[in-house]
Amino acid sequence: MPLAEIIAIGTELTTGAKLDTNSQWLSVELQAVGIPVQYHVTVADDMTANVNVLRTAVDRSDIVLISGGLGPTLDDLTRDALAQLIGKQLVLHEPSLAIIRGMFARRNREMPERNVVQAMFPEGAEPIPNRRGTAPGIYLEIVRPGRPACRVAAMPGVPSEMKVMFHDDVLPRIRPPDGAGRVIRSARVNCFGLGESAAEQMLGDVTARGRDPEVGITVHEATITLRIESTAATIAEALEKIAATKKIIFERMGDYAFGEEDEELEDVIVRLLNERAQSLAVAEAATGGLVAHRLTNVPRHECCLRGGLVAPDERTLEPASGANSADDAAVKAAASRLAQSCRERFAADWGLSVGRCSRADDHEGAPDAPTVWLALADSANVRAVELNVAGDPAILKSRVAKSALNLLRLALLR
Ligand code: AMP
Ligand code: MG
Repeated sequence: MPLAEIIAIGTELTTGAKLDTNSQWLSVELQAVGIPVQYHVTVADDMTANVNVLRTAVDRSDIVLISGGLGPTLDDLTRDALAQLIGKQLVLHEPSLAIIRGMFARRNREMPERNVVQAMFPEGAEPIPNRRGTAPGIYLEIVRPGRPACRVAAMPGVPSEMKVMFHDDVLPRIRPPDGAGRVIRSARVNCFGLGESAAEQMLGDVTARGRDPEVGITVHEATITLRIESTAATIAEALEKIAATKKIIFERMGDYAFGEEDEELEDVIVRLLNERAQSLAVAEAATGGLVAHRLTNVPRHECCLRGGLVAPDERTLEPASGANSADDAAVKAAASRLAQSCRERFAADWGLSVGRCSRADDHEGAPDAPTVWLALADSANVRAVELNVAGDPAILKSRVAKSALNLLRLALLR
């Protein structure tokens, strides 16, 4: 199986002024046709750095896809770097020049002399037509003693031009022949309510490197995603292996696993509530409406979401909440009342609340309390739980909102 490497060229990328989205897109496309990508490299507009990166890539990878550096300006070095790499001159390709001239003529503009360089190619390289812009791409096969040649394609940096060129002219050159290729399929299982290392521990050998299929763990705003990646000779075989691994994951993760692919906690909640024809109201004094916002992203939320309240402080939402109480039991009771009163106010089956419910000794102006209280009420019961919110403040609101949603999800499952 040939291994691919993707090189993004541009100082705007290495300085961080612009995000390299081309490499991500190319990786997804290569994966879809069963070509594994081994390296992403980003390099500035610098001749020595470009040649070094290209030399390394050609040595360690069988397919090298490059984007950027094909423009007409002095900082566009890709064609020169390729020529230097293979020790050839740049030569003019008249048909490409005619096409570039034609593009300018159609726009009633004179072609600047500098654009001639876009019709120059390292001797022996193949021009790749650009259906969207002026810069043609460059295709090269570089002979490597004792090994198959390395296939190199350089494409423009402009994402729309690169995408068309990749599909129309690069993919046909590098796609593995039918039947000879391996297909890669992937799937995701989403979990909530535990940390990454705890998840890994529960999964046991499932996350071992080299397992078939491989399972990776990523975390985004406290949601843990288990990504299953399956390589096989046929799509059916790849999917079968995914199904078997998914079954093990669901068994081991139990209620922590809540959904698949793009499914979020709020999707599950809206589905469960609608299945039971039950309704919900929310009161948020620590999440700025994020719980309601997430729920309102889901189709058919209007069938179950009765209403929501937002305030910077739970005393505004529920004056009788008794906040500023001196002891834990009273604080817990205050949090519970918040959920109950919001449930009653909107005549909903469930009331879900998020509040800080600070203790009396949390004096005014003190740093944010390291906990928030979540509470969930139905007609018969109310349950309040304290959530530790130490940790990255950037994801705090999101984590608290998800924790509130998860409290309801678990109650709906029981
Ligand atoms: P170039 O081909 O280097 O002249 O780039 C042309 C345009 O495409 C510039 O606006 C770049 O910022 C943009 N561009 C180049 N490389 C990338 C990349 N890897 N991802 C996203 N945009 C890019
Ligand atoms: Mg550039």
